[in-house]
Amino acid sequence: MHIGVPKEIKVKENRVAMTPGGVESLVRRGHQVTVESGAGVGSSFSDADYERAGATLGSAADAWAAEMVVKVKEPISSEYGYLRPDLLLFTYLHLAADRPLTDALLAAGTTAIAYETVQHADGSLPLLMPMSEVAGRLSVQAGAYHLQKPVGGRGVLLGGVPGVKPGNVTIVGGGVVGTNAAKMAMGLGAHVTILDVSQRRLAYLDDVFFGRITTMMSSEANLRELLPTTDLLIGAVLIPGAKAPHLVTRDMLSLMPEGAVIVDVAVDQGGCVETIHATTHDDPTYEVDGIIHYGVANMPGAVPRTSTLALTNQTMPYVFQLADQGVLALNANPALLPGLNTYQGSLTNQPVATAFGMHW
Ligand code: NAD
Repeated sequence: MHIGVPKEIKVKENRVAMTPGGVESLVRRGHQVTVESGAGVGSSFSDADYERAGATLGSAADAWAAEMVVKVKEPISSEYGYLRPDLLLFTYLHLAADRPLTDALLAAGTTAIAYETVQHADGSLPLLMPMSEVAGRLSVQAGAYHLQKPVGGRGVLLGGVPGVKPGNVTIVGGGVVGTNAAKMAMGLGAHVTILDVSQRRLAYLDDVFFGRITTMMSSEANLRELLPTTDLLIGAVLIPGAKAPHLVTRDMLSLMPEGAVIVDVAVDQGGCVETIHATTHDDPTYEVDGIIHYGVANMPGAVPRTSTLALTNQTMPYVFQLADQGVLALNANPALLPGLNTYQGSLTNQPVATAFGMHW
């Protein structure tokens, strides 16, 4: 199959959908890969790296002319002209939030498989997980930095030093983001508490962290108890398909020490802190009632090299299947089928159809 990898053109997107290693594996399997010149630069992969791996370099139009196009972000309006009926598109799409793109894919008759709806039988979302891992780990780095006095924080070193107790990190939500945040915070030497509503999850966390973190049932009372000694609060809650609940309300901020930091990773779902709003890497924080708020909605964008490698580790097995078998891979791999969002002019994902009030 001929596979195309265009350069991401969404503002500040530095990831790329395929590494030179991925290209090499596809070429070895007998496929042809066209990579747009400069596609890998933001992730520190040069054109020469891709050429050495066996790719042909070309323009955006050359990459989009392939039978299958593999991307990171959804096509933006200037890319709609590349959509066509015999194109297989594999990328993050988030169609429920993007009616114009949905209409463009349907009008063009493109077969589009969305990373975020590829789903295993146990409900897990393997192509969302790597970005949650990155964001979870990054949340502690960001929080530790913003706790420093020169950038407005309360001047606490999370690990403490001999003779001085460590900082307290409170993590609300013990899923993928929360667990990865806990690993990093623990690694820095902080005292970590994770709250979750799932007793099973708390038991699992207690097991894997060997009792070295504190687990607590997520409740308002427990949060109110923890906030007066919390230096860094990380929001990591997810209720699939719903807006995050506001677990930390504005009046609760006054319980926290002045200069404490909130990193609400769940901001992309509205956030679990009432006072959070989305921010950017250029201007990541703001202050409310003396508490530093960090609400970057695309945290993995800060570390595109790691994010590209983490994402492609997970996407490439599906890319290989799609390249080898075309759409028949959807029958062969049950996880891929829920990923199909549009096919020959029809909407094939129920939540997206429901979001638009379309007949299903
Ligand atoms: P996950 O499903 O793995 O974990 C969510 C956890 O929240 C679950 O363990 C669940 O039991 C728990 N939970 C639900 N209600 C709760 C409550 N009331 N109190 C405490 N815990 C509760 O999800 P995840 O992959 O860890 O993602 C978490 C959030 O981070 C999502 O909103 C996701 O979209 C977001 N995210 C943001 C970025 C970013 O750049 N900002 C990047 C990746 C993920």
